Amino acid sequence: MPIDVRCDCGRAFAFKNELAGRSVACPDCGTTLSIPAISAQADAAFDRDRFLLRQKRLSINEIYDVRDDRDASLLYVRRPTYPFRRILAILAGLLVIFGLLGASLALAFAVHGEGKAAGSPLGGIITGVGMLLAMVAGFVTIIALSPKRHVSFYRDPSRQECVLEVLQDSKFMPIRRNFTVVDPKAGPIGRMSKNILFDLFRKRWRVNDAEGEPVCTAFEDSIILALLRRFLGPLFGLLRTNYVIVRGADADGDRLGEFNRKLTLFDRYVLDLSADPLRSLDRRLAVALGVMLDTGEKR
Ligand SMILES: [Zn+2]
Repeated sequence: MPIDVRCDCGRAFAFKNELAGRSVACPDCGTTLSIPAISAQADAAFDRDRFLLRQKRLSINEIYDVRDDRDASLLYVRRPTYPFRRILAILAGLLVIFGLLGASLALAFAVHGEGKAAGSPLGGIITGVGMLLAMVAGFVTIIALSPKRHVSFYRDPSRQECVLEVLQDSKFMPIRRNFTVVDPKAGPIGRMSKNILFDLFRKRWRVNDAEGEPVCTAFEDSIILALLRRFLGPLFGLLRTNYVIVRGADADGDRLGEFNRKLTLFDRYVLDLSADPLRSLDRRLAVALGVMLDTGEKR
């Protein structure tokens, strides 16, 4: 998309991206117009407006590969699923539940003698409290032993150089899901969050900078499509969730780009930020958001 500049005399121009950072004279009044420069990105892999994403099939972990417009590889993204650690966490939780249930039953029997425990009020209280305690302790055990699922962005599949990370802030996030975006060279660069209650109507992800100021928000493309998806499901891909990305925190903010899951280009999802030709949106945050829009959706 071109760069819009308005002269003091009132004339509006749309300059080609190649002219960014240059100065030109207004043909009407002769005033020198400075065309804003394109913001430099922290890493060459992010220095572009379009990113193509594809999730690798038949993999235990969630793997994405990010490419440019010409299908050249840019990044290798990995979000481990830890199946064995999750099974172990569930088994340990069950062990805690049954252990505490057994203990409370044994206590109830010990207090009132076998056979009478169920009928006596004290036995009932002991087993009732025991059941509640067992459920809570089992749940806490499962959460505590389940690993956090961070997302790592590597230069290539060798995974030698990590260029970006999205860290899950806590293990238990029942309503609000918070993540911190970290550049291994620069430290935290932003935070992303979504509230799962909004998923019922229109999905929404917020991105703030490291200081907590709103940067951009991704909204499900249209409320009508969002509602149709809730009732009809994805309908063989026809109603796949697409997003618009706007500046700031409001749906009517300037449009910065879109995340399109129609698989139109090389069978990939397209993160298109050409509506932000000056690259004011940090592309590291944008690519992190693109991956989370997909991986953070179904699970
Ligand atoms: Zn002018």
